[in-house]
Amino acid sequence: MTDILVVLETRDGALRNASLEAVGAARAAADASGGGKVTALATEQIELDAAILGSAGADEVVIADSKAHSPDGAAATAVRVAGETGTGAVFVSATVRGRDLLGRIAAGLDTGFAADCTAVDFADGSLVFTRPVYAGKAQIRVKINGPVVVASMRSNHFGPADREASAEMNTTSAEIGKAQVTSIAGKSGSRPDVAEAARVVSGGRGLGSAENWHLLESLADALPGAALGASRAVVDSGWRPHSEQVGQTGKTVSPELYIAVGISGAIQHLAGMSSSKVIVAINKDGEAPIFQQATYGIVGDVNEILPVLTEAIQATVD
Ligand SMILES: Cc1cc2nc3c(=O)[nH]c(=O)nc-3n(C[C@H](O)[C@H](O)[C@H](O)COP(=O)(O)OP(=O)(O)OC[C@H]3O[C@@H](n4cnc5c(N)ncnc54)[C@H](O)[C@@H]3O)c2cc1C
Repeated sequence: MTDILVVLETRDGALRNASLEAVGAARAAADASGGGKVTALATEQIELDAAILGSAGADEVVIADSKAHSPDGAAATAVRVAGETGTGAVFVSATVRGRDLLGRIAAGLDTGFAADCTAVDFADGSLVFTRPVYAGKAQIRVKINGPVVVASMRSNHFGPADREASAEMNTTSAEIGKAQVTSIAGKSGSRPDVAEAARVVSGGRGLGSAENWHLLESLADALPGAALGASRAVVDSGWRPHSEQVGQTGKTVSPELYIAVGISGAIQHLAGMSSSKVIVAINKDGEAPIFQQATYGIVGDVNEILPVLTEAIQATVD
């Protein structure tokens, strides 16, 4: 039986969906281990709904009284609460902030971590994590030796538990960190974050110029909840912001649908999107490596394909 602490992530006073997925992953893992307790920890003040977190899988929610995010303070709070509750595992989301916390928490607990996990199960008395390696070319199963294990959960691989339960609400003091985040320069616009969206329309150098991006935006508009993504070549050219970059040095995405437009499929790009459920590639070069990853491929010029595809999708969605 393994008790699990999930460190929640909030942004602009709201709980991120990736955190509900991490709570769902913890619930499934705790149940698989024989029925442990799941505690969700908010390391800074926020109003949280006991029913939503209870339904997602948390038995208890603990809110720390910090007014702003502090990476080292949040990690220290998580380490202390993990010690107080005698938890056997700490889960975070594999987001930018989650990555920042992961190593700090593992160091604080003097244990190892498994990053970017896509599945968790319980075998021979231990949690076993599945995670991609070699830029997504292989999957490994990781077991961490030690009394406490730490892991981050990749978005769109786990779901909230969806059970009828309400979490017990409690508070705790926050550890004071040396660094305080005073503001976050977020992306503009109303589209979801590329790392969390269920649908991603991603563009590469094949779009030809920043001015052509309206073609991708129209396609994304036709797909409810779609986010925009980009290759590094595009970001390096200044066509799109780095917050949209998908790949080894950008964000990792695992949407239900990933549409790669004018992207060659370099290994560093594949590292960030190859675990997408359905991949559609549009490229004028039928030999482009992206087609080896694609579920569906369209060989042709983006300038001709995109308007037709967008119109066809609009007709279906309407
Ligand atoms: C350490 C390191 C880290 C990196 N990290 C990343 C990363 O995080 N993300 C990332 O994406 N890359 C990353 N890269 C860069 C990567 O190697 C590639 O250079 C980059 O992904 C190429 O981007 P692209 O596919 O948009 O451009 P290109 O490779 O130039 O491909 C453009 C494609 O568009 C097609 N095309 C051209 N015109 C049209 C048209 N009119 N219609 C249809 N198709 C057309 C071409 O056939 C081609 O396949 C990294 C590289 C290194 C060395």
